[in-house]
Amino acid sequence: MKKHLCWVRRDLRLHDHHALSKALTAPCEIVFCFDPLILNKLTDKEDRRLTFIIDSLKVMEHELQEKGASLHILYGDPVVEIPKLAKTLQVSAVFTNRDYEPYAKKRDESVGHQLVELGINFHTFKDSVFYEQKEILNGSGQIYKVFTPYKNKWLETLHEQENIVPDFKVNLKNLVPWKNPKNILAFDWHKELGFIETSSLVKAGSLAALKRLKDFDKKMKDYGEARDIPSLEGTSNLSPSIRHGCLSVRDMVRAGLKNTTEGGRKWLSEVIWRDFYHMLLDAFPHVEKKCFKPDYDQIQWQGTKEHFKLWCEGKTGYPLVDAAMRCLNQTGLMHNRLRMVVASFLCKTLLIDWREGEKYFAQKLLDFDLAANNGGWQWSSSTGCDAQPYFRIFNPYNQSEKFDKDGTFIRQWVPELAHVDKGDIHSPTPLLAPDYPRPVVVYEKSRQEALKMYAVVKK
Ligand SMILES: Cc1cc2nc3c(=O)[nH]c(=O)nc-3n(C[C@H](O)[C@H](O)[C@H](O)COP(=O)(O)OP(=O)(O)OC[C@H]3O[C@@H](n4cnc5c(N)ncnc54)[C@H](O)[C@@H]3O)c2cc1C
Repeated sequence: MKKHLCWVRRDLRLHDHHALSKALTAPCEIVFCFDPLILNKLTDKEDRRLTFIIDSLKVMEHELQEKGASLHILYGDPVVEIPKLAKTLQVSAVFTNRDYEPYAKKRDESVGHQLVELGINFHTFKDSVFYEQKEILNGSGQIYKVFTPYKNKWLETLHEQENIVPDFKVNLKNLVPWKNPKNILAFDWHKELGFIETSSLVKAGSLAALKRLKDFDKKMKDYGEARDIPSLEGTSNLSPSIRHGCLSVRDMVRAGLKNTTEGGRKWLSEVIWRDFYHMLLDAFPHVEKKCFKPDYDQIQWQGTKEHFKLWCEGKTGYPLVDAAMRCLNQTGLMHNRLRMVVASFLCKTLLIDWREGEKYFAQKLLDFDLAANNGGWQWSSSTGCDAQPYFRIFNPYNQSEKFDKDGTFIRQWVPELAHVDKGDIHSPTPLLAPDYPRPVVVYEKSRQEALKMYAVVKK
């Protein structure tokens, strides 16, 4: 009898799942594989992402066990492990959703070759993005390099498709019944992989993600104003869930389209930024290592290792920057406005290469996503596609006064400033806050140096 295997990776849910909906047209089993090449790069043994993944798999396992089935959990090189399992189970085809990161593309190509050698088909599907690279092209058939026309075409394309958002229903009745003794609920996978279980402010799994999306819908109308204030819960905090696929991108698009307020439109536009960056990484994989604009690779970054360390630790003497970095270090989360502030500060005030900051975020962020992180860093450092111009340098004091007016966010994360009032908190004197570090650099002087440093690329 024909049997299928569905390989899940960044799509940890059992609803609206493209590959699974197709795989379940025949009796099917589901597999997740921990990849040592990815895990070995995680330096912190209490990595929040791993716990988030394990917890999301547990939610899936609960649902599967209710249907008498279970997840296969593997640990090893997927290029070896996936074909091996497919052969053991004697499946006719393996189904998976496409991943656009350079490593994933190479890996999937190799898995595909191995499967074909074994006479097993390999089917891949669009799932993690709404539109893929070649679906949104300009009038000359080229990729958009500017966001606004890309977004307009994206919306126009959806409109031409009568705003129909597909829902890839999964028929769990076709699951092959079996019991896995090493299932994710029964077996300590943290220990097996050499990690320690940790906690997260954002609950893992699809049930929590769908609830968060539903709750956020009530706030969406205010998103336009609230989204820039870190002390408010004005954004959805769904990025870890969408990163690991506890939600589908179509869940997000449906919610954005349904909410016809100005806030809903703005929120949908942010979801489209996500597609934009995924499309760019897929089309221009060099951005993983190099500046999108090659001229910017000539920049001689002048910052020091010592300043980088202070930035990482949240000890720069710039209150909003320090509050943001301490929040990141303690929670794995950072508000979008603050990501822009600390990224601009690293590159254009401390004059440090954007790749250093990108790497640090990659270690710490619960929602780390190569495409969005790279896009955000290249935007902030002006090296990217449709980035802000290099001479636009965020003044950290003004950003602080504007987006944390009363100092609420700063007080939450910088205890040395908890007693300082709102008039002084953005630039506290040593007399007021003797335990708080002095600014590591003088902003105005650094600004001039940044302009000189970037001048090599001035057209
Ligand atoms: C330097 C820098 C690094 C970043 N690194 C990441 C990262 O590793 N992973 C990540 O998911 N986002 C990243 N972002 C984008 C953005 O900061 C986060 O997506 C956002 O803060 C997540 O919070 P939220 O879920 O409450 O977003 P909301 O404001 O509720 O937005 C909804 C969703 O839209 C998407 N989105 C929103 N803004 C952006 C954006 N600017 N670019 C791409 N997608 C966006 C996210 O999936 C988000 O969950 C980065 C931005 C910058 C400036």
